Amino acid sequence: MDFNFTPEEEAFRDEVRAFLDENLPENGTRDMEAVAEFQRRIREKRWVGFSWPKEIGGGGGSIMEQVILKEEMARRKAPALGACFMGLAWVAPALIEYGTEEQKQRFIPDILDGKYQWCTGYSEPGSGSDLASLQCRAVREGDEYIVNGQKIWTSIAMWSKWMILLVRTQTDVEAKHDGISCLLVEMESPGLTVRPIKNMAGGDMFAEVFFDDVRVPVENRLGEENQGWKVTVSALAHERSSISEVYGLTRSLERIKVLAKSCHRNGRPASEDPGFRSRFARADARIEAMRLNGMRFLTKQLRGEPLGSETSINKLHRAQLEIELGELALEIEGGLGVLVQGDSAVPDDGLWQRHALSWPEVVIGGGTPNIQKNIIAERVLGLPKD
Ligand SMILES: Cc1cc2nc3c(=O)[nH]c(=O)nc-3n(C[C@H](O)[C@H](O)[C@H](O)COP(=O)(O)OP(=O)(O)OC[C@H]3O[C@@H](n4cnc5c(N)ncnc54)[C@H](O)[C@@H]3O)c2cc1C
Repeated sequence: MDFNFTPEEEAFRDEVRAFLDENLPENGTRDMEAVAEFQRRIREKRWVGFSWPKEIGGGGGSIMEQVILKEEMARRKAPALGACFMGLAWVAPALIEYGTEEQKQRFIPDILDGKYQWCTGYSEPGSGSDLASLQCRAVREGDEYIVNGQKIWTSIAMWSKWMILLVRTQTDVEAKHDGISCLLVEMESPGLTVRPIKNMAGGDMFAEVFFDDVRVPVENRLGEENQGWKVTVSALAHERSSISEVYGLTRSLERIKVLAKSCHRNGRPASEDPGFRSRFARADARIEAMRLNGMRFLTKQLRGEPLGSETSINKLHRAQLEIELGELALEIEGGLGVLVQGDSAVPDDGLWQRHALSWPEVVIGGGTPNIQKNIIAERVLGLPKD
């Protein structure tokens, strides 16, 4: 594998850097107008959906350029590329792979423009890890499906206009992965109710969603009837493959190293403690492994191959790193680590206290570590099914 970039790719990197120097709003700004203006300029340059075909509003760039763009954005902690997170991350890629021409034209330009949000209706009260056991039912009546059932943990359902929904359209199936279909559903449809759920950090970014005779036009089905599992597997691979998370983790580790210089252990800076130093090295090595594994997906994509189960390796690395880095930071803080966020003595403005309450979101969302391990064991290593 050649890790070097071509002169054209390096020139593109310089262009991105120059653009960011000129246009990037101040780091961590809460000025939403400045962020919106930045995203408008990014869109103007066709950098949102940069590697997607021009016919559907993408930038027609190469996957490599897309990666360079994401790397540079992540390095500078720029606001997300585009305002429609799930739409860009997995709904549009699924549309590109499985959508009809009409569906692509109808949805992708709005996703690129960030006109509204999408949410993801997969999990149910009895079907999370074992997603294929889902029971939410859609029965076809002429040109419509009638949907009844419930979804749970649906992130940003309250603010979304559309949902990518998995339903059971056939019950007499041999394998539970069969008989599932993927529907695109308008959240304002009559019979659809959203009830927010509060998490332990006090946020209410996810919800339960109830379907009571919700009518969905057949033209809103994504992919073949009863073949929705294929669409989901592809969407989940995209959800688990993000390379820019490597930069987020690198930044976290750098921050912890700075923290270790100001906190003390046995009368000297924690950064000089051999125990902590070996943990920095371990985390560093794991992040590097994640980066190289990301290169593996990239190589597959450059060869035009679909993303597969190897994406679970990075999802697992990320989950374990989020936990390890959080524990490491709080241990370094020592007694200060138990202070409440907002206390004047709390280090790093309470960053690691907030992290302690929020890491389960990252670890569980998109499939728990146990499930990633099962996928790696069975589909990457070829071990027997559990
Ligand atoms: C912040 C957040 C956002 C989310 N957003 C969405 C969303 O937008 N849309 C959506 O559809 N879902 C969403 N989810 C749901 C998420 O995908 C599920 O919570 C997750 O897949 C786990 O399912 P579960 O909660 O039903 O737990 P369960 O499946 O009941 O698992 C409970 C425990 O059992 C373990 N376990 C289960 N089966 C096995 C097995 N075979 N082998 C070993 N261990 C096993 C799990 O690892 C876990 O520790 C979100 C979750 C979170 C936390």
